[in-house]
Amino acid sequence: MAVKVGVLALQGAFAEHADYLRRCGARPIEVRLPEQLDEVDGLIIPGGESTTIGKLLRRFGFEQPLREFKKPIWGTCAGMILLSKEIRGGLPDQLALDRIDLRVTRNAFGRQVDSFTTPLELSNLEEPIPAVFIRAPLAEPLSDRVEVLAEVDGQVAAARQDKIWVSSFHPELSGDLRLHRAFVESCKP
Ligand code: GLN
Repeated sequence: MAVKVGVLALQGAFAEHADYLRRCGARPIEVRLPEQLDEVDGLIIPGGESTTIGKLLRRFGFEQPLREFKKPIWGTCAGMILLSKEIRGGLPDQLALDRIDLRVTRNAFGRQVDSFTTPLELSNLEEPIPAVFIRAPLAEPLSDRVEVLAEVDGQVAAARQDKIWVSSFHPELSGDLRLHRAFVESCKP
């Protein structure tokens, strides 16, 4: 049976993730209610606007379930911000789910560099991935539990801590399925 991977579908780039998951042979489930977390083997929190996604997560009762979710979670861009322990440049009450020991800086490339694509080396992939950065965050590790997978300008662009994965770029726009394949593999029960 295909692995069921949830894609949080409250706001942002969820449709593209669902498409990539399908192409990897997984069954994507668009998650709009916390109850749906029980039926999935893992979850992607997509890019979008972290302040908006955070507000919607609180409004729909996702906060506690996501703090306690035991299966793999992959946060991309805004999703990385939401999974971090500390947020710089966020709203005063912005939701930080504290699932990975990172201090993340929103919009780390400033206004001049709004978005760009660059080949990025990741320590878990043999060849670089075309990484699409869109008003992207960067982070610094707060503990040695964080496994840094890629850096840009000496800061974290991709990392893992136990079952939590984060990337500051948009892998669902890269035309490259390798990271989705690796995540799907890690979701197999
Ligand atoms: N800058 C956005 C934020 O702070 C993230 C951008 C993205 O997800 N592409 O939420």
